[in-house]
Amino acid sequence: MEPIRLLDEATVNKIAAGEVIERPLSIVKELVENAVDAGASALTIEIRGGGIDFVRVTDNGAGIAGDQVKDAFLSHATSKIRKAEDLFAVRSLGFRGEALSSIAAVCQVEIVTKTGDALTGVRYRIDGGAELSFEEVGAPDGTTFIARNLFFHTPARRKFLKTPATEAGYITEFVQMMAIHYSDISFKYIVNNQTRLVTTGNGDRKENIYKVYGREIAENILEAEADGLGMRARIYAAKPVVARSSREYEIFFVNGHYIKDRILEKSLEEAYKPYLMQHRFPFAMLVLTIDPGLLDVNVHPRKTEMKFVEGAALFEFVRSNVEALLKNTELINRAELTERAEEHYVPPRDTPEPFEEKRRESSEVREESSETLFEKQTAPPVLNLSPPEVSEDPEPYGKQLDLFAEKIIQPANKPCFRLVGQVFGTYWILEYQNRMLMVDQHAAHEKVLYERFVKQYREKSVVSQYVNPPLIITVNGRQEQTITRYAEAFASLGFELEHFEGNDYIIRAVPSGFMQLEQKEIFLSLLDELEEGMKTEDVSLIRDRLAQMSCKAAVKGNTPLSALEADHLFSELLGLENPYNCPHGRPTMIEFTERELEKKFKRIV
Ligand code: ADP
Ligand code: MG
Repeated sequence: MEPIRLLDEATVNKIAAGEVIERPLSIVKELVENAVDAGASALTIEIRGGGIDFVRVTDNGAGIAGDQVKDAFLSHATSKIRKAEDLFAVRSLGFRGEALSSIAAVCQVEIVTKTGDALTGVRYRIDGGAELSFEEVGAPDGTTFIARNLFFHTPARRKFLKTPATEAGYITEFVQMMAIHYSDISFKYIVNNQTRLVTTGNGDRKENIYKVYGREIAENILEAEADGLGMRARIYAAKPVVARSSREYEIFFVNGHYIKDRILEKSLEEAYKPYLMQHRFPFAMLVLTIDPGLLDVNVHPRKTEMKFVEGAALFEFVRSNVEALLKNTELINRAELTERAEEHYVPPRDTPEPFEEKRRESSEVREESSETLFEKQTAPPVLNLSPPEVSEDPEPYGKQLDLFAEKIIQPANKPCFRLVGQVFGTYWILEYQNRMLMVDQHAAHEKVLYERFVKQYREKSVVSQYVNPPLIITVNGRQEQTITRYAEAFASLGFELEHFEGNDYIIRAVPSGFMQLEQKEIFLSLLDELEEGMKTEDVSLIRDRLAQMSCKAAVKGNTPLSALEADHLFSELLGLENPYNCPHGRPTMIEFTERELEKKFKRIV
C-alpha cells in the first residue's frame, strides 16, 4: 500500500467539496469503499438501530500500518492520489482522503487494523474528533471499523435523520447492490443481530441477483458484453416479462461506483420501449467501465453522480447494445401450466463470517474479467495521463454480441409451422416442432399494421386516403394551437387539413391506416393527447402514437379471419423485428411446450 499523505492545497481545492457524512448510509458507503480499495476478499457489514447506533465494517484487506493510522484520520489524507492530475485517472473508489476524518468528527469511532507483515495490530479510539486511546493489540490481518452514535454531540443534525427502519433500508439497498456487483468479494450483512445477506465471493453476479431479487428475476436475466469507444459494458437485462412499475430496478455501476443517472436510465428505457407497456420499467443492471479520462467522478462529494464527457455516445452505446440483446432473444411468453418444481435455480450455500476464514489467496478470488478498472492490489495507482484510447473500429456497436440460441420466430422457419386452427374466435394455434404457439389475432394484426405504418412513414411513402365527403371538425383554442404547432408533422403523416371558417377545420385526407372508422374521434383525441402529454417537437412520438391509434381503429371491427388470412398475417408477423408484443406491449403470442403438456397429462412427472 502506498503511504498515506496529505494532499496539497491546490489539489484539495479541485476536489468537490461538501458534507460527506449525511446519514448512516454515508458511513457504510465510505467504509465499504475503503475495504474494496484495500483489496479485501471478504467483508462483514453490521448495523444496529438503522446504523445510527452502531456500524461495523470488517475486512480482510491490506490494513493500515501502525504508524500511519493517525494520519488516515487527517483531513485530505489519502494513499490513493497524490496530485490534482491524478483526479483524471482515478482507479480507486476513494480519492478525497476525507471520509475517515469526517466520520470521526461526527460519531464515536474505533478502529482495529493490522497489515500482513506486522506482528501486532493497532487499536485507536476517537470521540467526536477527540483522541481517546491508541494501543497495540493482537488482531487478524485487515481492518475493523466501528462507528457508534452518529451525531451524538449534534442533536440538531440527528433530528434530520429518518426512522431507524428507513435508514436501515437505505443501507440495505446499498449493501445489496455492492454485494451483487463485487461478486468476487464475499459479503456478510447483519442487521440488528440477524444475518440478512451472505454472498460467496465466487464471482457469479447472477447468483447474487438471485439472492437479492429471487428466482423470477434471476431466471429471466439475459447477459451480454460490449465494448467500444473507450467504454465497456456488462449487461444483465431481464426479459420484459418481469417488468416493474418503478425505476428502482434500473441499476448502474460505473467504474465500481453505484450511481443514479438520467442518461443511463433513458438509454435503457429506450431499448425496452417496444416491449413494455406504458409506466412499466425494466429490471436491468449495467456494469460499465469507462476510461477515467472520459468521465468526472469528482462532481459530487458522495460520488453518487458522475459527468460523462461523451454523454451522447454513452447513450447510444447502452441503447444499441441492450436493444440488440433483446432483439436477439426469443421473447415468446411462456404459458405456465405446472409448478416448475424441478427447475429451481439452486441457491448457493452460505459461508462463514469472512474474517474468520484465512485470508484467501488473492489470485484465486480475483475475478479475471477486466471490467473492474482499478486493480485490486496494493500497488500504487497507475498514473495515466495519456489521452484515452479510442477504438479505430468504424462500427463500434454490435460486433460484440455473440448470438444466442436461434430464434424460431423468423421468416425462414415459416414452412415448419403448421396452422392447426382457431379457438374462441380470436386465438390461432400453431405447431412448431415440440412447441405449440397461440397467437392473438387482434394483437398480431395491430402489430403488423403498426409496423407497416411506421415503415411507410420512414420510407416517406405514407399513403393518404381522401375522405369523401371531407370531414369538418370544430376545435377549441388549445386544439387549434396544437394543429398549428404540429402542422408539418401532420402533413408528413398523411393528413391534409386546413382552416375552414371560425373554429372549424376541414380534413380532406387521412393516412390510409385510418381506414373507414371514426377518423374524427381519432383525430380529436390525438390532438388532446398531444397537448396534454408531449412537450416535444419529436415527430417520431406523434408518429408512434398515431400508428397505434390508427391500427387500433383498423382492427376494431372484430373481423373474423379465414385460415388463409391468418396464415398471411402470421407470415408477416414472422418478419417483424419484435413480433412478440403489440404496440401497447401486450403479448401477441404465447407458447406451450410439449413437455409441459405431457406433465399436465401426467405422462411424465
Ligand atoms: P480515501 O479513501 O479517499 O483515500 P479515507 O479517509 O476514506 O480517504 O481513507 C484514508 C486512507 O486510509 C486511505 O487512503 C487508505 O490508505 C486508508 N484506509 C482507510 N480505510 C482502510 C481500510 N479499510 N483498509 C486499509 N486502508 C484503509
Ligand atoms: Mg475512502
